[in-house]
Amino acid sequence: MNTVKAIELFNSWQGEGQNLGKFITFLRFKACKLPFHKTLCPFCDTRLKMKMNTEFEVTKEQLLSALNSTNYSLCITGGEPGLYLNQIKEILDNFKLNHLEIETNGLNLRQLGDMLISYKEKHPDCYISINLSPKFWDESSLVNYIDLLDKIKMQIVNLINVKLVVSIENKELTDKFLMIMRKNELHIKYSNKIFLMPMGTNMSQIMENSSACIDLAAKYFLNITARIHILYNFI
Ligand code: SF4
Repeated sequence: MNTVKAIELFNSWQGEGQNLGKFITFLRFKACKLPFHKTLCPFCDTRLKMKMNTEFEVTKEQLLSALNSTNYSLCITGGEPGLYLNQIKEILDNFKLNHLEIETNGLNLRQLGDMLISYKEKHPDCYISINLSPKFWDESSLVNYIDLLDKIKMQIVNLINVKLVVSIENKELTDKFLMIMRKNELHIKYSNKIFLMPMGTNMSQIMENSSACIDLAAKYFLNITARIHILYNFI
C-alpha cells in the first residue's frame, strides 16, 4: 500500500448518525474544504485538531491491526475525505472491509460515490454509507446542496445518509432546506435517510439546541441522532 497520511487512527464507538454505537476504526484526514463556501464552518468542532495535529504515515500493518479489532469496520472522516480521494482509493484497493462509512460535507461527492460503487461491485457484502453532512449558512449554498442531492445518480443516493446539524441559530435555514427538499419530492428519495443532530461540543450546548432539532424532526417526520461520544465522554 502506498502512503496514506492522517492525523488520527483509533478505535471507538460511532458517536452519531445511523450507525450510532457501532465499534469502528476511525481514520481522520487533516484538511477540510467546503464545496460551496470559501471559509470553513464557524461552528467546526475539529478545527483545533486539524490545526494542531501533525500528519503521520499510516502503514498497512497499523491499519490492519486496528481493523482486526473492529471486524474490518472503518469510518473515514476529517477534515474532508473528499480532498483525499487518492488515499481512499489506496485503502479500498488494499482492504476487504465489512463496514465502511465516509463522513463528508459533499466535496467531490460524485467521484467519491463512483469509487464506492466500484468497491461495492467487488465486495457486495460490505455495508457502505456516505454520511453526507451538508454545511450551509446562506441561501446560495443551501440551493447548491439541494441541486447536488437532486442531480446525483440513484446508485449513489442509495449509499447516502444525510446528517443535518441543527442549532437555534440555523433552525430557520434548516427548515427552509427541508421545505425545499419536500417541495422537490427529495424527501421521498431520501426518506428514512435523514438524521437531525443538535449542534454542540458539550452537554449543555447539545441540550440547548435539542429543542430546535426535535421541532424539525417532528415537522418533517425525520430521525434524530445524539452525539453519544460527548454525552458518554469518550473519543
Ligand atoms: S465540514 Fe466539518 S471538518 Fe470541515 S469545517 Fe465544517 S465542521 Fe469542520
